[in-house]
Amino acid sequence: MSWEKNVRRVTPYVAGEQPKTAGVIKLNTNECPYPPAPGVREIAEKMNCGEFRLYPDMNAEKLVNALAGYYHVRPEQVFVGVGSDDVLAMAFMTFFNGEAPILFPDITYSFYDVWAALLRIPCRTCALDENFFIKKEDYFVPNGGIIIPNPNAPTGVFEDISMFGEIAERNPDSVVIVDEAYVDFGGRSAIPLIEKFDNLMVVQTFSKSRAMAGVRVGFAIACEKMIGYLKDVKFSFNSYTMNMPAIEMGTAAVLEDAYFKEIVGKIVKTREWTKGQLKRLGFSFGDSMSNFLFVTHEKVPAEDIFLALKEHNIYVRYWNKPRINNYLRITIGTDGQMQELVSFLENYLKER
Ligand code: PMP
Repeated sequence: MSWEKNVRRVTPYVAGEQPKTAGVIKLNTNECPYPPAPGVREIAEKMNCGEFRLYPDMNAEKLVNALAGYYHVRPEQVFVGVGSDDVLAMAFMTFFNGEAPILFPDITYSFYDVWAALLRIPCRTCALDENFFIKKEDYFVPNGGIIIPNPNAPTGVFEDISMFGEIAERNPDSVVIVDEAYVDFGGRSAIPLIEKFDNLMVVQTFSKSRAMAGVRVGFAIACEKMIGYLKDVKFSFNSYTMNMPAIEMGTAAVLEDAYFKEIVGKIVKTREWTKGQLKRLGFSFGDSMSNFLFVTHEKVPAEDIFLALKEHNIYVRYWNKPRINNYLRITIGTDGQMQELVSFLENYLKER
């Protein structure tokens, strides 16, 4: 057993369930209910597999250029990775090396404290207010870095981007990361702020609004210097992370803007319809700007509803954690899926 004392022991991140059974209504991991853009599907069909014998472009230039064009930045300000989890893990490794603790909200994406533990980064959480909003003053203290999702997960709360400018301004010695995994569903991106603040980094993903969770594409946008440091760490770890299909499909997705806007629009419309229905059934929730709702019921405990839904093959997300153990996070699916959810809840709640 002696070798075990040198093991890097960690408690891994717990992802939402990926059930293997057919016929499940899957509203538990914030995936997109629609397929990726037609151009992405064409690439999947036409991919020249002969090329797979070669290494991919380790700079993923095509994808980087497409993103730079789309977001009106220079290619040197873009970093791509295998989903935003990869980009965020690299950013933690690159930028969070101080003695002071990094800061993030107490209710947030549960991977942050896992990376902090894995990489031995001291961290401290800042409590959200009773409506799950950030108290910006909590971030005006000495720290080793800051990460905040906007909209936040799992709450769906969107904060005005001027707050991130203020936090970046008050923390010139720290890197401030805004995790914008859900920003396309009605929020506003902090990308324009990177021109002003060289310590601000924005991270986004293709997993939600671009319907490509299975392909694994994420990216960061920041000043050239920050992206340079990020690349140095990435190329010291694993150069060829972005495979050929991911680069090609990611590029096609960025270029098909009309389709992107169409599916995002549909999800937002379905979200607003679902809000009205859930309110009628006695649920309350904040004004979500994401592709999920974070809801609590006036009478019935969230865990009971979670289990009843699961029994009925409708998967949503529940955490038995302080402050959020009476909430459910429900991903917005298609109209049909949400209608099924609502009609199940209607009957279930009547019987309680
Ligand atoms: N950030 C937040 C806030 C998330 O909820 C998720 C999804 N689990 C991610 C990042 C990572 O998504 P992906 O790695 O699929 O890009």
